[in-house]
Amino acid sequence: MDFIKCNVAIVGGGASGLMAAVELAKSGKGLKVAVFEHHSKVGRKLMATGNGRCNLTNKNLTVNSYRGGTEYLESVLQKYNSNYITNYFSDIGLVTYADDQGRVYPLSNNVSSVYDCITDYAFSKGVDCYCDVTVKKIIPEKKGYTLLSDDYRIFAENVILACGGKASAKLSTDGLGYNLLKSLDISVTNIMPSLVQVPCSNRCLTNLKGLRVKGEISLEIGNKIIGKESGEIQFAKGALSGISVFQLSGYVSEYFSNRKNKDNIAFYLDLMPNSTAQECLELLKSRANSLHWYKLSNFFDGFLHKRVASALYSECGIKDIQRTASTLTKNEITRLAHCIKGWKFTPTNAGEFDNAQVTSGGASCKEIDFNSCQSKKHPHLYIVGELVDVDGICGGYNLHWAWSSGIMAAKNILKGYGKTND
Ligand SMILES: Cc1cc2nc3c(=O)[nH]c(=O)nc-3n(C[C@H](O)[C@H](O)[C@H](O)COP(=O)(O)OP(=O)(O)OC[C@H]3O[C@@H](n4cnc5c(N)ncnc54)[C@H](O)[C@@H]3O)c2cc1C
Repeated sequence: MDFIKCNVAIVGGGASGLMAAVELAKSGKGLKVAVFEHHSKVGRKLMATGNGRCNLTNKNLTVNSYRGGTEYLESVLQKYNSNYITNYFSDIGLVTYADDQGRVYPLSNNVSSVYDCITDYAFSKGVDCYCDVTVKKIIPEKKGYTLLSDDYRIFAENVILACGGKASAKLSTDGLGYNLLKSLDISVTNIMPSLVQVPCSNRCLTNLKGLRVKGEISLEIGNKIIGKESGEIQFAKGALSGISVFQLSGYVSEYFSNRKNKDNIAFYLDLMPNSTAQECLELLKSRANSLHWYKLSNFFDGFLHKRVASALYSECGIKDIQRTASTLTKNEITRLAHCIKGWKFTPTNAGEFDNAQVTSGGASCKEIDFNSCQSKKHPHLYIVGELVDVDGICGGYNLHWAWSSGIMAAKNILKGYGKTND
């Protein structure tokens, strides 16, 4: 077994760990910093972000875009706001732009630019990187920590735990970091998948698979609307997907994590969010009048996708679609209008971690000093990124937290050595 001694050991070469490495590298020479990565390459999940574009932060950053330890986040986001992060990236060579929703991307529209800027900077300034190394045990010592992997015994004065969560295991891990936390007696909150497609019981999903519609989707739990999102909704195999559904998926996971929950849960999809229920009804009535000779199978042509129309008929119990529109009864038209304005989908379960973009839950925020991301129980041990009980909605918020927490931890370590980059 080889022995490595360093000032800072970063466990996990993902967004948060790599950014901590950049900040430590910025201080110049002196500190021996090493990243230990489970996979054969660092930044695997980072390379999958934003559909290959990497939405790295958001100009409209508020604490309301996060779940978990939000009461601790306000001050962090004030200091490490989106300007701070875009300027930080600019300093290491990345040119960015923001779209009309405040989402910040690399100008190249390619995540490789983000990856290259971070890794070029950190590794050209002397940060060591050990891939295919899984840290399996951390033992607190008098003046630091011993870390054990299959091949290495590592002694580090400071440890940054940047192991990510449990989401998308093939790109990260299936939650190795939680075992490390538990072995250090650091409490971990309930872990749930978030930003994930939601399995629903509606049989029509089989025929709708692969289609996308624009609309507004609401989530109702116990007769209360918990959230509403506008945009694209994707029909997947036995599930609803798309960014609008992702944004609400955390609540669904939370609902199903509480086994005692007996409240009703339902999504309502409005396919005509810019029209009132009455306007929708009038439109169908006038269509049935003006296109009365059309077969029902053609009645929605030019209005809805054929497969959506067919699913609507099934949902409304309208079977014979070879008859003409003139035969539609008042009641049938009302049912169709009702369905177009509030198509009910019933979630059957939380989504799966393998399909999720982030993990909700993690190291309890009560255990962490949010000025530094240092463990309250273990001095010189830092917990950052998705491993912490902080998760955001889609839009660059999760990477923002990963960068900010990595930088924060590194800054505090530098302070301990009498160094600063500010
Ligand atoms: C498909 C997809 C798209 C996404 N798009 C966006 C987006 O555009 N914008 C956004 O803000 N967020 C996005 N996210 C979320 C974002 O990628 C994560 O929130 C972020 O990567 C978390 O960073 P992290 O450093 O905490 O964890 P990770 O990036 O997961 O990195 C953790 C690393 O630690 C390693 N590791 C774990 N345990 C050990 C161990 N014991 N020893 C050694 N190594 C270990 C893992 O292999 C991994 O490389 C997306 C996620 C996915 C899955």
